[in-house]
Amino acid sequence: MDKIEQFKKWVQESNDIVFFGGAGVSTESGIPDFRSKDGLYNQKYDYPPEEILSHTFFVKYTDEFYKFYHDKLNCLEYEPNITHIKLAELEKRGKLKAVVTQNIDGLHQKAGSKNVYELHGSVLRNYCMKCNKFYDAEYIFSSDGVPKCSCGGIIKPDVVLYEEGLDDNVISGAINAIANCDMLIVAGTSLTVQPASGLIRFYRGKKLVLINRDATAYDSFANLVINDSLGNIFSKI
Ligand SMILES: [Zn+2]
Repeated sequence: MDKIEQFKKWVQESNDIVFFGGAGVSTESGIPDFRSKDGLYNQKYDYPPEEILSHTFFVKYTDEFYKFYHDKLNCLEYEPNITHIKLAELEKRGKLKAVVTQNIDGLHQKAGSKNVYELHGSVLRNYCMKCNKFYDAEYIFSSDGVPKCSCGGIIKPDVVLYEEGLDDNVISGAINAIANCDMLIVAGTSLTVQPASGLIRFYRGKKLVLINRDATAYDSFANLVINDSLGNIFSKI
């Protein structure tokens, strides 16, 4: 059986699918992956993105942080692609139980997905550091410089910066979903970043599918490896 046929058959048979996605899911919507060589990093900034997007940097150089943030992480103009849309459909049909994502762009929710574990947070949620008031992404991206609350406090995106810990509830929810699913689709991630590689080890079933453009270190653990674009595969289910 051809690989895509095999994939389709498993999706048809399964009623408890979990999708685990990385940056590759969003690059097909045009959002650059700042970890890749041709991604976000360019000479315009004096520091690498990993340093700018760190907690220390946010606290010390909030101005500079927001310059980069406004410039590079404004996801509002992007739309969900066929993969986001098909996943939301699978959830609606009762076949998919959860999406676990490393992305912070909110595109799964925009496509209609409800149960999404955002390991690294979301640019769509922002809170005043002083009074905890909520602000949406439109407010953050339309403000000049450092966005301020009506109380005068600085607003911080609910995004997990480098040096910051992941949310315990999100992690345990993701682990629970992965440990109990009948099919796990891991896509658009090279699995080099923790906790991604650690999380998929909780899967106990026999339908682990890895979809990535290039080979990953976890290919030998998978029951099916497809090296293709996500859009190409999800447009066929
Ligand atoms: Zn405030």
